Amino acid sequence: MTDRNATAAKASNEDLRPLEGLSRPADAQERIAGAVRTILEAIGENPEREGLHDTPQRVAKMYLEVFEGLYEDPRDHLKTQFSADQHHGAVIVKDIHFHSMCEHHLLPVHGKAHVAYLPAGGRLTGLSKLARVVEGFARRPQLQERLTDQVAQAMEDVLAPEAVLVVIEAEHMCMSMRGVRSPGSTTVTMIARGTWKHDHAARMEILSLLRS
Ligand SMILES: [Zn+2]
Repeated sequence: MTDRNATAAKASNEDLRPLEGLSRPADAQERIAGAVRTILEAIGENPEREGLHDTPQRVAKMYLEVFEGLYEDPRDHLKTQFSADQHHGAVIVKDIHFHSMCEHHLLPVHGKAHVAYLPAGGRLTGLSKLARVVEGFARRPQLQERLTDQVAQAMEDVLAPEAVLVVIEAEHMCMSMRGVRSPGSTTVTMIARGTWKHDHAARMEILSLLRS
């Protein structure tokens, strides 16, 4: 496992905040479709031929779907909370499958997120809500480092836990189908916040549970 905290921390000073979404342009679908048509023409294809005729509109609808996380604030999912006074242990959700799009190539990234936190003051959220947060941030033009950071930040902002750990393992199609062409290689990013940031033993214990 590679500790990419340094990379993520550097990026977090720039464009990682705020986490809230954008407003969607009213003509988004038409503009995407027009751009796709332009790409087809630019590569020498004929956008009017039968197989490509509906492609610009089809791709436009798909883009609006895979980028729909741009138009929400995924932190809202965590506002559904309940308290459990007796619960003082860590909460771990493993293998949250997600799909995203690399913002450098607009090619898919897919993988798994593992999320853990140590609740403070008995503040807990539903397990499915953590998956929704991952999905909300994943459905944006993304960098894996930023996705990792944003999930951790959202949990800190809303749950104010004693500690947070987010690990993401993903395959980037821009590495598999072009450039260095290394299919199957996985990029791992990790962020630890709160007490787990400095408590090496506690962090290793959670990591071994995440990876078991
Ligand atoms: Zn890429």
